[in-house]
Amino acid sequence: MITKQTILDAIEEINCSLRLLAANGHRGFDCSPESLEKLAGWSQPAALRAEPLAKIRSDMGDCQRCKLASSRTHIVFGNGHAAAKLVFVGEGPGFEEDRQGEPFVGAAGKLLTKIIAAINLSRKQVYICNIIKCRPPGNRNPEPDEIEACLPFLERQIAAIQPDFICALGKIAAQTLLHSDVPISRLRGQFYDYNGFKLLPTYHPAYLLRNPDKKREVWEDMKMLMKEYRYED
Ligand code: URA
Repeated sequence: MITKQTILDAIEEINCSLRLLAANGHRGFDCSPESLEKLAGWSQPAALRAEPLAKIRSDMGDCQRCKLASSRTHIVFGNGHAAAKLVFVGEGPGFEEDRQGEPFVGAAGKLLTKIIAAINLSRKQVYICNIIKCRPPGNRNPEPDEIEACLPFLERQIAAIQPDFICALGKIAAQTLLHSDVPISRLRGQFYDYNGFKLLPTYHPAYLLRNPDKKREVWEDMKMLMKEYRYED
């Protein structure tokens, strides 16, 4: 059955493919053999990327690169659109994410889903992942050696997806990606360059659950993001 969601997904696929053509230097809608060849890959835009996400996941394997391997249930690689225009990067899996193997599926994840809906997008249209892919015991902050072991995979994911925007959720994500020790309260609210992608730090949804008064600032950040996101369309 063709549902409204199927049509929306198809439109998003076409949108991603056109952006991919534009990124490859094509202007307008031409029917040159080169463009037609690229269009043949429309059903799998990610296949046109330098490296498919599946290859990155398979390189991780049953990762034992840091001490978190011994206590994790699942590696939480990330999910969403393989050619998303917007990538959300959190800190690391919590209890529910470790249990299910998917990012942001616990209480903070439910709030993130609402935030995504508030900017008129769905989880299927964006990509969601974390700085580290295994849950630290007791949800403690990731340690520097754990981040160092895991970060190359996130960097490859971002390079494969080629988003226009990255939203760094919380202090760990923002400080790690920006190589900064500035507090998240000062980092948020503006765009930064991250390897040519526009990075916007904001508060982590788990922090918002504890500090609901900060939701207003996140909404300000999301309005900025939405404005730029639409402008880039
Ligand atoms: N918090 C995070 O930073 N990431 C998740 O996936 C879940 C909660």
